[in-house]
Amino acid sequence: MGTGMQDWPLRIGTIIDHAERQHATREIVSRSCEGPITRTTYAQVAQRSRRLAGALIAMGIQPGDRVATLAWNNARHLECWYGISGAGAVCHTVNPRLYEEQIAFIINDADDQVIFADLTFVALLEKVADRCLAGRKLVLLTDRAHMPTDTTLDLICYEELLESGDPATSWVEVDENAPAGLCYTSGTTGAPKGVVYTHRSNILHALMMHGGNALALTERSVVMPVVPMCHANAWTLAFSAPMTGAKLVLPGPKMDGGSLVELIHGEGVTMSAGVPTVWIDVAARLKESGRGTLRRVITAGSACPRWMMGAFDDLGVELVHAWGMTELSPLGSFAPLRAEMDDWDDEAKLNQRLKQGAAPYGVDLRLVDDAGTELPRDGVTGGRLQARGPAVVSEYFKGAGGKVLDDEGWFNTGDIATIDAHGFVQITDRTKDVIKSGGEWISSIELENEASSHPAIREAAAIGLPHDRWGERPMLVCVRREGAHVEAHEVLEWLRDKVAKWWLPDAIVFADDLPHTATGKLDKVTLRKRYEGFTLS
Ligand code: ADP
Repeated sequence: MGTGMQDWPLRIGTIIDHAERQHATREIVSRSCEGPITRTTYAQVAQRSRRLAGALIAMGIQPGDRVATLAWNNARHLECWYGISGAGAVCHTVNPRLYEEQIAFIINDADDQVIFADLTFVALLEKVADRCLAGRKLVLLTDRAHMPTDTTLDLICYEELLESGDPATSWVEVDENAPAGLCYTSGTTGAPKGVVYTHRSNILHALMMHGGNALALTERSVVMPVVPMCHANAWTLAFSAPMTGAKLVLPGPKMDGGSLVELIHGEGVTMSAGVPTVWIDVAARLKESGRGTLRRVITAGSACPRWMMGAFDDLGVELVHAWGMTELSPLGSFAPLRAEMDDWDDEAKLNQRLKQGAAPYGVDLRLVDDAGTELPRDGVTGGRLQARGPAVVSEYFKGAGGKVLDDEGWFNTGDIATIDAHGFVQITDRTKDVIKSGGEWISSIELENEASSHPAIREAAAIGLPHDRWGERPMLVCVRREGAHVEAHEVLEWLRDKVAKWWLPDAIVFADDLPHTATGKLDKVTLRKRYEGFTLS
């Protein structure tokens, strides 16, 4: 018997073809590097992406070749995503916030044939040129009028390149399992490792995540991805928005609270997504201006602080906590409340929403102990979180780091978590950040969350310091809010009824700032170095 159904390859080009047919005039609004706000449509993005694919093919780009982007969230970057994968090549998104050595490393490792860069990154490219740009073509994402004249780099003008591309180019018919995207993890513990997304995995991931239990996108949505397109596959929004016909509002290089709130009000943004730090300033400004059209904000990347949930509740905006990682394409779980929780009291609801949430269809999660034995979903037992699914990594680019799946095909996320009877995951730590005291785990995330909910504390980080008797004991490093006064003994008092007694930090110190990684997470490797030799009393 035949299969009875058509073999319709899941190629990324089908997404923008669909948007062109069904949502031709839906807008993509960008804050450009040149300054002004620009407007285009899905029809125009589709047509220009075809030209770009044609131009890349004419340059000699072959299926499987890597082509890099070093760009902010803007419409030209979106065209690159579709043009590059449409030419059968692999779109390698380079995060400009990585250290220069890491940028040079990943461009060489990926062996990018062409690099598309925003105007703002000319100086960065000049700095890394000797280390990684020889033999690579550089295209500047701008028009002739804005091409720099005082650079040593040999730059191609994007708009001219596009002009040369054949508008009748068809997407190259690669297999749906062919690579389409490449994104490196920030490599806080060693060299960055590349995660390769396929056409199929990206489409399935966008289908899995656009639904009501997750991103909840429809044609009526006006989406502002603050999460950068240069990291973690832009939380699938560059695929799921055109798939649904949602209007896209792309903030470009200006990601400060004032600029974002201006876009929210000016463009009628209904939904936005980004790491928690972005929302600190946005929440404060929305308090003054009102929420406008904004109804939903997704936050992931690091734990959402308790106060933030309350601040958005007060604004009448649903803040949805989510969790993911580059290796999961990247989304793994979302925490909107379920119908079965409707009659819970407010505190229980808030605690549930502060968990990282449940996996949508297509992501399978479980907890195991050190021996690989599955642990109960009781919301108490902590273990190593593992994942599997059609958009979960099976090996890193060029096999870096060796085997990544266990014998049963599960990927070890490197996170320590609990899972409750509702399937809600709560991340307590990354394996490498965990504080082990007397053989038991202390959650650094929970300590940080409780400390940063103190009104005088802007940010807090917990690390383990060596201890003769207990192995490790927690130390808390706090940054005070501007103009606020708080002392160590007051923080200790604050924590006393919020965490177990043996979790209370042995030392609480204050710092002017905390180190962060390229993706805005607390950089505990640097922090631990900073306090190396610090002795606990
Ligand atoms: P990297 O920063 O290493 O490049 P990712 O951005 O992919 O990589 O980070 C993934 C990690 O971020 C997860 O494994 C987890 O530790 C952390 N993370 C993501 N979302 C959350 C969240 N909502 N709460 C706590 N930790 C999170």
